[in-house]
Amino acid sequence: MLLPPDPAMRELLDRFQSIVKTDPEILHLYSFDGLRIPHKPAAVVFPEKPEQIGTVLKIANKYKIPITTRGAGSTLTGGATPIKGGWVIDTKKLNRIEIDKELRIATVGCGAIVANIQDEAKSHGLFYPPDPSSYQHCTIGGNIACNAGGLRCVKYGVTRDYILSLKGYLASGEFVEWAKPVRKFATGYNIRDLWIGSEGTLGVVTEASLKLIPHPETRKTLLCGFDNEARALTSVLDLLSTGVTPSILEFVDKLSVKGAQKTVGGSFFDELEDPAVVLLEVDGDVAQVERQLQIARDWAEKYSDAFTVAANEIEAEHLWTVRRKCSGAMYALGDTKLNEDIVVPLSKMPVLLETIDTLREQSRVPIAVFGHAGDGNLHVNIMYNHQDTDMTENAKGALDSLMKKVVELNGAISGEHGIGLAKSHYIGLQFNAQTLQLMQSIKQVFDPNNILNPGKIFEAYSPWDHLKIEHKFPWDKAK
Ligand SMILES: Cc1cc2nc3c(=O)[nH]c(=O)nc-3n(C[C@H](O)[C@H](O)[C@H](O)COP(=O)(O)OP(=O)(O)OC[C@H]3O[C@@H](n4cnc5c(N)ncnc54)[C@H](O)[C@@H]3O)c2cc1C
Repeated sequence: MLLPPDPAMRELLDRFQSIVKTDPEILHLYSFDGLRIPHKPAAVVFPEKPEQIGTVLKIANKYKIPITTRGAGSTLTGGATPIKGGWVIDTKKLNRIEIDKELRIATVGCGAIVANIQDEAKSHGLFYPPDPSSYQHCTIGGNIACNAGGLRCVKYGVTRDYILSLKGYLASGEFVEWAKPVRKFATGYNIRDLWIGSEGTLGVVTEASLKLIPHPETRKTLLCGFDNEARALTSVLDLLSTGVTPSILEFVDKLSVKGAQKTVGGSFFDELEDPAVVLLEVDGDVAQVERQLQIARDWAEKYSDAFTVAANEIEAEHLWTVRRKCSGAMYALGDTKLNEDIVVPLSKMPVLLETIDTLREQSRVPIAVFGHAGDGNLHVNIMYNHQDTDMTENAKGALDSLMKKVVELNGAISGEHGIGLAKSHYIGLQFNAQTLQLMQSIKQVFDPNNILNPGKIFEAYSPWDHLKIEHKFPWDKAK
């Protein structure tokens, strides 16, 4: 083998030749993630054992080589894009899943796919609830790094609520373990929770122990149609005040429903041509579900303009298509999407919708809204054609105004996707200078050479100034 002149790469290849790839096609594939803006790495490493990550980090730290840890690359923020080059660590081979049925704990490698963890837990009668829509593809390491949410958070909470302990490596390559696989841990600083949501900037997670709960026995699905979007959202508050704890409570606005209806080739309600919808599920044991369903049904009769209850799983799956198809259908409105995951207090959701109506009129770009109404976490999708300069400028203007409004409403610029590159432009709206300075000081303590995912969160990046590439990911195939 002809070793390259670069001493860092030489040392990497000397140690790990069989798990390091530098072929141009592989470097291209790892140059982008769900944001689809490429920045090429110099090498991709495919560790087969956690300790190898420690050694790779030791070499990288010695030569100050940027490291981007990558699970499935399904992030929509550019968080797994190697913006400063360097090496990408692909964690997918670290995919061990072990379930302790008695302790109700799963021990998982960081590369384990979330759907596989859920399936394995289910085979023991147990439940791992966090379920980002990308669950069939994304890794638990990526979920931990972003503190991923999903559809069931309204009842069950987010990834953080299920992490008992973490193992991993510091930027220096030293091994660390944060907390233990026990139900309570009030010992020392809680660095486990600091790592959760830190987007691969403070360390590399290699293993986690997860809290599992008993699997719910059954579920019921309702789809409620509204001819007025704001009323759909205000009635969500009424529903929550009835004492029902839905396991799913999703809002889909008229524009998004229209796209989904076009894709499935029919309308969800005979009596409503152009509805906004609320998709609702209750789960638990049979008696609980019957009781909750009755309350939900009474609510739907009082507040919605039409509703339907799925009689069986096939009908439930049909009702779900409105939520599953709306995101892909949006590409009929523009070739590029600014995909936001903002959060506002529940009571402010109607005000936010009013703001979005105004932004639509002023900017003349399509803006479609759907998402986790029970959490106030709405996906706002600003669509534009990237070759149309005016439209791109207007989309950006709409995004600036949206982010300002969200912060003014006491909300969050990201509820589950994280900041990555895509939202770094707006981090200064969320935090004051002192808070940002403190966060960066923490980063400096963990990673003095700034090798872990450099350029993310704190460095302003403008995604609209970069050309997105065409690429079909596995999760795009069903669209
Ligand atoms: C169709 C679709 C639907 C989605 N729906 C949701 C949703 O409902 N809810 C939601 O929260 N998100 C959602 N997402 C976003 C995305 O799937 C999540 O952010 C997911 O957690 C990313 O996991 P991943 O394995 O793909 O991580 P990647 O995209 O590979 O990485 C994400 C971030 O985590 C870091 N990272 C990855 N592994 C590690 C590790 N072992 N140690 C340290 N850092 C690490 C990376 O450096 C990067 O910053 C969706 C994405 C798509 C494409």
